[in-house]
Order: sequence, then C-alpha cells, then structure tokens
Amino acid sequence: MSNNIKQNLKSIHSESFNWTTIQKDMRNKMGSDIYESWLRKIDFVEEMSNYILLSVSTRFIRDWITSRYLDQILQIIKTYKKDLTRIEFKIIEKSSKDEAQESINTVEKNENVSFIRDTYLQYNRIDQNKNFENFVIGSSNKLAFEASMKVSENISHYNPLYIYGGVGMGKTHLLNSIGLSLKENNKVMFISAERFMYQFVKSIKSNDMVKFKEYFRNSDVLLIDDIQFMNGKEAMQEEFFHTFNALLDKGSQVIISADRAPNKLSRIQERIKSRFSGGLVVDIQSPDYELRYQIVKKKTEELNIFYSNQINITEEIQKFVSLEIKTSVRELVGALNRIVSFSRIYNKTPNISETKVILKDLLNLSENKVTIDLIQSIVCKFFKISKNEMLSSRRSRYLVRPRQTAIYLTKILTSKSLPEIGREFSNRDHTTVIHSVKTIEKLKKVDIELSNNIDNLKNKILYNKENEI
Ligand code: ADP
Ligand code: MG
Repeated sequence: MSNNIKQNLKSIHSESFNWTTIQKDMRNKMGSDIYESWLRKIDFVEEMSNYILLSVSTRFIRDWITSRYLDQILQIIKTYKKDLTRIEFKIIEKSSKDEAQESINTVEKNENVSFIRDTYLQYNRIDQNKNFENFVIGSSNKLAFEASMKVSENISHYNPLYIYGGVGMGKTHLLNSIGLSLKENNKVMFISAERFMYQFVKSIKSNDMVKFKEYFRNSDVLLIDDIQFMNGKEAMQEEFFHTFNALLDKGSQVIISADRAPNKLSRIQERIKSRFSGGLVVDIQSPDYELRYQIVKKKTEELNIFYSNQINITEEIQKFVSLEIKTSVRELVGALNRIVSFSRIYNKTPNISETKVILKDLLNLSENKVTIDLIQSIVCKFFKISKNEMLSSRRSRYLVRPRQTAIYLTKILTSKSLPEIGREFSNRDHTTVIHSVKTIEKLKKVDIELSNNIDNLKNKILYNKENEI
C-alpha cells in the first residue's frame, strides 16, 4: 500500500478533534439549510481544555447562532471533546481578500484530501429535490442543462459528458437530475470523487477489490462529482481509468463534474484528461442578474409551498438579494433561507435595512470589489475621456468635472482615506480631494443632470455594469 493511501486511511479513521469532521456532523444532524445559511461560516479559532473559541463575521450571526443553535452545537462537539463545557464566539470581520485567501487555502488543503466532503450526497443516494423541473435556466447554464437533458433522453449521445464550473453553480444539481431521470430504467451510480476514493481505500483494506470493481463496472450510468479531488492520487486514478474505459467500452454513460476544464486539472494523468475532452465538455458560468432573480423567485415559490404560503418576501427584497448576492447560486439560496428563518421566527418580512443586517457578511463581499480602478474606468467611459486624460494635470473643463466625479465616487463608495485617494489620482494633494468632493456635493443639489449622472454611475459601479437600474 502506498504511503499516500495509508495517510488517507489514517486521517479518515482518526477520531481526534477536527473542525471539518464537526462541520460535517453539524450538517448531517442539523440539516443542510441551517448549515448553509448559518453554520458553514463558523471558523474554529482555539481549543482549551474545557472550552473552545469559534468565530463568525458579524454580531447578528453570532446572536442568531447562540440563541438558537448553541445547545445542539455543544452536544455535537461534545461527542468529540468530552470535557467541553462552553463555547465562545469571537467576531472577526472578514475582508474579501481573506475570503479569497481562504478559498485558495481550502483548495490547497484538499490536495491531500483527508476528509470526505459532500457527505450529504451519501454513497449513491440521489436527492429527489434536485431535478430538471426545479433547475432554473439562464444564459450561463443553458448549454450544460441542454446537454444533461440530451444525455437523459439518449444514453451515449455525448460520452463522457463533462460539466465544469465554480462552486455553487449547480453542477451537483444537474448530475443529480440526470441520475434521477435515468434511474428508473438503468443501473445508476452517483458518487463524489472523494467517496469513490474512500470506497477504494476501504476495499483495498478489506481485500474487497473484486467487489469494488464489479460494483462500479456493472453500472449503466456512472456520475462522478467533483473529479478535481482525484488530483495527484495515482493509484485511484489508475483504478478510475480502468473503470472509466470499461464503462465506455460497454456503452455505459459517464458524466463527470469538476471545478475546472479538463486541461486545467493539475496532477491528473494526461490520458485521463484527453479521454475527458473526447466527449462533450460544457461549462456553467456565474449567473447573471436575470438568472439570479428567476432563481430567487422560484425558490420563494418553493418555500411557500413548503410553508403553506406563510412566507412573504417582498418584490423589493427579492430584487435586492438578486442584485447583491452574485458569487454563486448556493450563496443566493443560503441568503434566502436566512431571510426565511428570520421572517418565520419574528413573524414578519424583513425590510431592506433588516435584510442588510441579516446578510451583512455576504454583502460586504460585493462592496469590497469596488476598486478605484473600476471607478476610474467606468467614469472615463461614461464621459468618453481616456484614463490618461483623467489622471493628467490638465485643467480643461471637460476633464475637471469627470475627474471630480471620480474622486467623489471613490470617497463615497470605498473606505479609502483622503490621502490614499489623492495618491491614486496622480499624487494629488488631499486638499484637492476634499475640494472635489465638496464641489460635487454642492452641484448635485442644483444640477439635475449631474445628479442623475452620479446615480447612474453609482449603479454601474456597484452592480458592475451588468445590472443597470
Ligand atoms: P455545485 O455542485 O456547482 O457546487 P450545487 O449543484 O450544489 O452547486 O448548487 C448549489 C445550490 O444551488 C443547490 O441548492 C442547488 O439546488 C441550487 N442551484 C444551483 N443552480 C440552480 C439553478 N439553475 N436552479 C435552481 N437551483 C439551483
Ligand atoms: Mg457540487
């Protein structure tokens, strides 16, 4: 047995305190809605003999969790840490930079997969609630949806079908839908790559490789989710490749999902990548505003069926959420679930400012994406001047107003200090920055066209061009 596999075995069976394991457990015991909306973002900070310190990013989330879920969380952690008597929360506000770094770290950590993700997707368990009917189609996922439908109607049409896209874009939902529609008449095997690996390691350990092989090679349809987790696992890849070839040879359908294109899979054998590319490769892109809005509407309807029409999320809130939560469909659904828990518990629909509090940690992310560079580009384009002209020292009127506008927008839309703003505008003095801000503030009150332009620009910047309102 290679060291790599031994390492996996060791960590899979280790019972020591491990935050990832606890998160997995919380998800299983408390349900994925609560988990996705509130618990996923709890970070582990420190462990002492009888208490542990956790962190979340806003006060609201801390209060929400402690008032509703703390007992259950305590019980869950206690199974791993018997002496535990209390849990404390610290508030650590995160910048989007930290989040980005965090996702990089997660990817790196996953390179030596030592835990099983997606356990809710238990071994070959297909979720009835993720089907083609409730998959909302937009321009970013249309191709992937159509290919999935084709595969479900006519096996081996595209073989393999390879679907890729970022986290929370709907890949698992589509794979699940394919499995659901084919399982009546076919032997369907739906498994995440990590599960596949786990079963593989387990079979080696118990000398059951023959059974393992038979099990997989007997299927008519093999759906493998998140194939990127096979990165660098040589023995696994070897086994997978044989299974994969055997299945294609006998005309079974193989469907694969990944977070990146086949040629971008690092440390996966070339021959595997080239077979992946040999079928149909489709991607799912980030959802645009229209799709996000349709999803929010659809989910709100579903929730209303579930809660017998007791959910009332105003049109305004639905639009607000669709505009603001852009990163992924998963985040969008999580945001909506939070609003629903709020409205059920307080028996009222949150208004915009309450919604902002409830979703603060998610909203910060998009706010932080406003950079001076973005503001300058959008303002230059709007006034049809070049960036060089905007940053030059020339004082012609047609340049001064746009420059002042950009400075003003930087002041109100970012948290940069006056000297910092000055520096970004060709080292202008901070008094120039103050002057610009004051000038625009004054003009806005008397000049309707300028005031409209500013609002227009503000929307373009905040919603990054795509959603002009
Ligand atoms: P991925 O596997 O790409 O990370 P998932 O398939 O798990 O993403 O999707 C995350 C969540 O968003 C799930 O709850 C899923 O049902 C939902 N979802 C994603 N895309 C859509 C869509 N187009 N229509 C409806 N729900 C969607
Ligand atoms: Mg997935």
